[in-house]
Amino acid sequence: MNELIAPNLPYDMMPRARAAIADMHLQQFVGRATHLKDEQRKNVFGDDFGHDGYDALRDLAANTKQHALDHLDELLERFIERAQATGSIIHAATDAREACGIALDIAARHGAKTCVKSKSMLTEEIGLVDVFTKAGIETVETDLGEFILQIDNDAPSHIVTPMIHKDRASAARSFVRVLGSRYTEDPTELTMIAREHMRELYRRADLGISGANFLLADEGTAVICTNEGNFDLSVGGPPVHIVFVGIEKLLRGARDLAPFLKLLARSGTGQPLTVYTSFVKGPRRSTDASGPKEVHIILVDAGRTGILASEKRELLRCIRCGACLNACPVYRKVGGHTYGSVYSGPIGAVLTPELNRGSPREEGLANYPDLPRASSLCGACLEACPVKIDIPKFLLHARAELRDRSLSPTSESRALALWRTLAQRPMLFRMAMRAARMHARMLGTHDGGIAWIRKAPGPAAGWTSSRDLGIATEQPFRAWFTEHSAQRGSS
Ligand code: SF4
Repeated sequence: MNELIAPNLPYDMMPRARAAIADMHLQQFVGRATHLKDEQRKNVFGDDFGHDGYDALRDLAANTKQHALDHLDELLERFIERAQATGSIIHAATDAREACGIALDIAARHGAKTCVKSKSMLTEEIGLVDVFTKAGIETVETDLGEFILQIDNDAPSHIVTPMIHKDRASAARSFVRVLGSRYTEDPTELTMIAREHMRELYRRADLGISGANFLLADEGTAVICTNEGNFDLSVGGPPVHIVFVGIEKLLRGARDLAPFLKLLARSGTGQPLTVYTSFVKGPRRSTDASGPKEVHIILVDAGRTGILASEKRELLRCIRCGACLNACPVYRKVGGHTYGSVYSGPIGAVLTPELNRGSPREEGLANYPDLPRASSLCGACLEACPVKIDIPKFLLHARAELRDRSLSPTSESRALALWRTLAQRPMLFRMAMRAARMHARMLGTHDGGIAWIRKAPGPAAGWTSSRDLGIATEQPFRAWFTEHSAQRGSS
């Protein structure tokens, strides 16, 4: 189920995090794949642009995108006018329900029974496949990873690599179970099996659906970057095509596109460019060999104008490359499903509570109080981000909001309140430290002036659930510090 469209869900990330950490297969798949992609990203940028060139490219992209966001109203008007001039039918949806409703109307008008869909995070966000399936429209994911997840009744766990939490053997088992094919773990053979299954679907589909990576206002064109060619088949075969796209995807035009194409593929997968960069500019013309007779573009807000009006506006620069997920030490350990939201990893942690803010379906941080804490604040996400979104800053803002709205877990609030009380009273602090040292001397395992406690009581119990607590018993840190700073001062 899509949690973004299900209000008032109880939300607790910790049980999922514990299960993920205990799952050695998950650790292996996610850890290895993210590490590899992160290394590939660094290598390809270093080789192609050098450090300074890469940084200049990021600055250019960040400024270009920010400029587009700052002029979004003008660009939207221009895009709508130019896209309509080339025959596209434009719709505006304020939220997920409206976006799905518009698509259902289009499908009903054309008597659509089968739909082929290429990968789109926005359609995940609005829960489109569930809505279509309930309406009796067979909706098939055509991206290979998404297809495997769909037949497994599973959900994507990464923005770019949806089945990063699975291996080839599980895909092979699913193909045997659902498609009746012979068991093979060979990627080419698996692709051929999926291809054979889908060719027939492309032929009989009434409707094609996709997302878009960019919208070009000057040209009234949607740009879609893919690696498998499935988008081109889903737009080329069916008579009707619907593009779902968030309004933040606007750029001024083709003149601004090049830096983003250079950054998107390199940041996401380490490729110089995605294999396919497709442009949708209206329906098929009389001179075209193929293409849909009708193109609908559904411009989705779903909280984006709220973000645009806030101090978190720069979050909308995100081009969904997934680099911050690959770089994040927390994501690498727990994978995407742990976050419990469609967008996972560092960008998901700050973006998810903002989506749909102000709408009846929104609970913001109250629905996702664990997300801002799913970070070590190491800054790897900012370093990896091709459009320089300062994710750590927004994580800190969100943590401050949790505190101000009393949304922090009680145990954490109590621990911090205790710390505050002690830190503000030196005498009390020293007494507490003395008591801790006595406790450590009696119960800890001694090693070179440190007593290690395996299972601490009270507020420190969480700390020792995954590590030992070391307390200096022979010389308190403050005494050591005073002594050494005095020595340094006299030398
Ligand atoms: S926040 Fe930056 S790194 Fe993360 S997905 Fe978005 S663009 Fe990529």
